[in-house]
This record gives sequence, C-alpha cells and structure tokens, in this order.
Amino acid sequence: MLSTMQDVPLLISRILAHGSSIHGTSLVTTWTGEGEPARRSYAEIGARSAQLAHALREDLGVEGDDRVATLMWNNAEHVEAYFAIPSMGAVLHTLNLRLPAEQLIWIANHAADRVVIVNGSLLPLLAPLLPHLTSVEHVVVSGPGDRSLLGGASARVHEYEELLAGKPTAYEWPELDERSAAAMCYTSGTTGDPKGVVYSHRSIYLHSMQVNLTQSMGLTDQDTSLVVVPQFHVNAWGLPHATFMTGVSMLMPDRFLQPVPLAQMIEQERPTHAAAVPTIWQGLLAELGAHSRDVSSLGQVTIGGAACPPSLMEAFDKLGMRVCHAWGMTETSPLGTVARPPAHAVGTEEEFTYRTTQGRFPAGVEARLTGPGGERLPWDGESAGELEVRGPWIAGAYYGGEGAEVLRPADKFSEDGWLKTGDVGTISADGYLTLTDRAKDVIKSGGEWISSVELENALMAHPDVSEAAVVAVPDDRWGERPLATVVLKEGSTADFTALRSFLAEEGGIAKWQLPERWTVIESVPKTSVGKFDKKVLRRQYAEGELDITRL
Ligand code: AMP
Repeated sequence: MLSTMQDVPLLISRILAHGSSIHGTSLVTTWTGEGEPARRSYAEIGARSAQLAHALREDLGVEGDDRVATLMWNNAEHVEAYFAIPSMGAVLHTLNLRLPAEQLIWIANHAADRVVIVNGSLLPLLAPLLPHLTSVEHVVVSGPGDRSLLGGASARVHEYEELLAGKPTAYEWPELDERSAAAMCYTSGTTGDPKGVVYSHRSIYLHSMQVNLTQSMGLTDQDTSLVVVPQFHVNAWGLPHATFMTGVSMLMPDRFLQPVPLAQMIEQERPTHAAAVPTIWQGLLAELGAHSRDVSSLGQVTIGGAACPPSLMEAFDKLGMRVCHAWGMTETSPLGTVARPPAHAVGTEEEFTYRTTQGRFPAGVEARLTGPGGERLPWDGESAGELEVRGPWIAGAYYGGEGAEVLRPADKFSEDGWLKTGDVGTISADGYLTLTDRAKDVIKSGGEWISSVELENALMAHPDVSEAAVVAVPDDRWGERPLATVVLKEGSTADFTALRSFLAEEGGIAKWQLPERWTVIESVPKTSVGKFDKKVLRRQYAEGELDITRL
C-alpha cells in the first residue's frame, strides 16, 4: 500500500522561505572589528539571496549544477551564498581558506568551480591561486580589500554589492529533486588526495531538524548562536540551516577569531550559545583568566571536531558556560553523536562522566563497532573497535570528479555501504560512544592499545599544562610507545617526573601506559580546521627535531 501523504521535496529553498518570513526579524550580526557590527535581518537575507541568485543566473550565466565556490569567513554574505546557490539548483562549494595553496588549487579544479565568491580580506590568498584555477570564469568580491591584487586575472571580476543592486528581491526557486547535490565540502585528507563529500537538499534538511532537537543543540528563537566553527568546515556544523528553521539569531565573527575579539563579542552581543573546536575554547579560557569579562549570557557551548578535554569542560562549567560535547565528521554532515546525559544520571555523579563521552547516537544514525578481524563487537562499554555508521545524512561515497563515477574506497566504506569512520572507541549498552583514538593515532605497545586521547586528557588536567599531544613513536622492544609533547602555561617549568607521577596518581593511567619519552613544545601543530596535527609531530620526532627527555 502506498502512503496517502503528499510527496513534497525537502529543499533548502523551503528553509530559506520559512526563515526569512516566519522568522524575518531574527538577525545575522557580523563582527567588523571596529565600530558597530553589521546587522541584517533574516527577511533581508531572504531578499538578498534572491538578488544573488538572479545575479548568478542572469549576469554570470550560472545554470544546472554548476559549482559556485566561496572563499569566505563566517558572515552575512556567506549565509546568503549558503541559501541562494543551492536554492537555485547550483552547488555551493565552500573552500577551506586554511588549506595550503596546492590543495586549494587541486580541490577547486576537481570540483570544476565556475565562480568564486571571495571576501576582500582574502584576496591576498586568492590572487596567486587564480591563474591555476582552470575552470573559474568569474570572481565576485565582497567587503573591503585590495581589488588591485586581481589585476591581470583572466577571470571576470565583479563587485558583490553591484551585482545585487536593483535585482528583484524574490526568485522563483525551482522544485528540485531533494536527492540532488546542494553543497560540497572536501575533507582535508591526511593521506591521498582530498575527498569531496556532496550533501543533498534532503540530507541537509533532515540534519538541520536533528540539530534543532532538544537532545542535540535544542536552540529556539530566543537564542543567539555565536558560530565560530567556520562555514567552510562541514557547513558550520549545520548551524546556518538549523537556525533558519527555528529563528535562532546568528553572531558571525568574520575574521576575528582570536581570543580577545571573541571575548569582546560575547560580552557585547551576549550570545546564548556558541560552537567551536576545543582549541578555540582553550584560547578563550586563557584570555578570560587574564582579563575578566562578562560572559554570563553564554549558557551553552557545543564543542566537537576533536575530543573535549574534561578539564576544559570543568573550567567552562565553573564560568557558567555548560559544555555539550558532540562528535561528527565532514562525511556525517557532521552531527553523529551528542553527549546529553540520560535522565537517570542528571544531578548524580555519573552525569559528568556521560558528558565527557562523545555522546549518544540519534535515531538517524545507526552505529556498529568492527574489530580488527572484521568481527562485530558488542556494545558493552569495553570492546574497542572501529566505528561504522549509516544514515540519511551520512556519506555513502565521495565525488569522483567531472563526469566520473563516485568513489567508494574500501578503507572508507564497507561492502554493505556503511561509512568506516577511522575512529576507534567503545559504545555502552545505552548507546554512548567513547572514542579512544583515530585508528591511525592509536599506540600499539607490545600487542596492546594505548589511547593517546586518554593520556592527553589526563595531562591537560595538570595545572602547569596548557596543551598536550601524545603520539606513537617506534620502539625496539614494544613496537610503539607514547611520546608526550607538552605545552606549558606561562611561567611554568617542566618537571617530567612529576607529570608522569601525576598521570599515574591523578589520571589513573596504568603503569605500562605511562610515557617515558617527553618533550616541551611551544604549541601543538594544528590542521587547517584547528585539530592536533599528529603527523607533523611524528615527522619532527623521526627527523630528530624534538629535544627528547627519557625517563
Ligand atoms: P573532520 O571531517 O575534519 O570534521 O574530522 C572528523 C574527525 O574529527 C572525526 O573522525 C574524529 O576523529 C574527530 N572528531 C570530531 N569530533 C570529535 C570528538 N568530539 N571527539 C574526538 N574526536 C572527534
């Protein structure tokens, strides 16, 4: 029997129409560094998205599933691009501005981007790349910046505001197939070429609804979300779409991502929610320690993208900012788990333990653990294996390039189509995921696994340590052993013996897991999206660049 329900496609244009009408007075506020921030209502964003779509179609000739790239910070214009491009049927391709030049060139050529919308402040980055971007015909510049840098470019250069001026403020958005491509994002890929994940209208729509559930971020139109996670990193964790569904206002930091301006914007604009990777919050915490600020509005902070150290969670709790830990990947849109404690644990000692896990799977994400021999492992909170997931907002393949089939590499997808996350961990009987490592970061010592994340969390709980990264290094006797690299707080000195005892006594680390190789570093190298870049540390060790103390 067929259902009797209407078959209405789940489209981004619907989210835009809803947000810009029902929630027309909600705001996107963009920080400008000096003076008043720029404020734009959702109604204005809706009108300007229509104007942008007209400009792209009528002036620039964008049609079909042409790729329109953005090289932009988080700001109102980027939100307009988020809605205009997919709603008109084209594909939004967010370029990660922190990638090395050669990767950006490779990615833009692979995606065959026809247009790049760029913030003026990023022209110094784009200008030298442009001669190598073989498919780009148009560059659209938004905001202040030195246009003369584009002199001699073969692509046509346009002004964002001039393109929009005078265009109709409504657009007849096409009724697309909900499964068609809406947006794409390349994973930064530590091995091999970057891989393109292509989101559909349907996947984004369903994911946005999940983000909005109370057991996920649970925001309403009474909230303002400080969206620090970049719009080029997995659609800013789905926030721009989710907020347009519910009318949550957005505070966008543009290029002002350093601790001081972040603290200023929180104090001045009083967001109730914020989302970013742990590194950003470590920086903010240090700033709040040095200069007291009123951050009392910020009741909820979503931390993900890398493991949130429990010490960071505790410090934030003390400041009244309640951390909600979440796990996800570019391939999972990204929301995979959210660490809301179960009802029975609320108010008990168990609550904090639940909150420090990566969290619980929502109905839309099926999960299983696979052991080294391909066997299914039980959800017993102890058996550790690779996490595999499946669901309507989880990638089932990568983009193969113009005219090519999609790619399904065997190390990324199981034969029955599940995504192999490359993350290793356990799942408890009540569905909470605890990650112990990336498969490639786990330390294999004498046939047993040592969790680098557990060692890092224990180290970062020490009052002298501001950051710590632990990597596997070769060892003649054990195969691999942990190397502890430590960033000390200002004015602290290194006493590795004391740190080692701290790990055993306070951190509860088993004796055989305690590192014997130690070094102090100035900062932990980070990837383009702000995560610990352990391959750099492994290389530095291999090349003898680190000054190692052996205990
Ligand atoms: P990306 O695709 O760049 O967002 O990276 C995804 C990867 O980041 C995941 O596969 C995890 O290894 C890591 N990750 C994301 N969130 C967390 C988290 N809450 N705890 C630990 N690792 C995380």
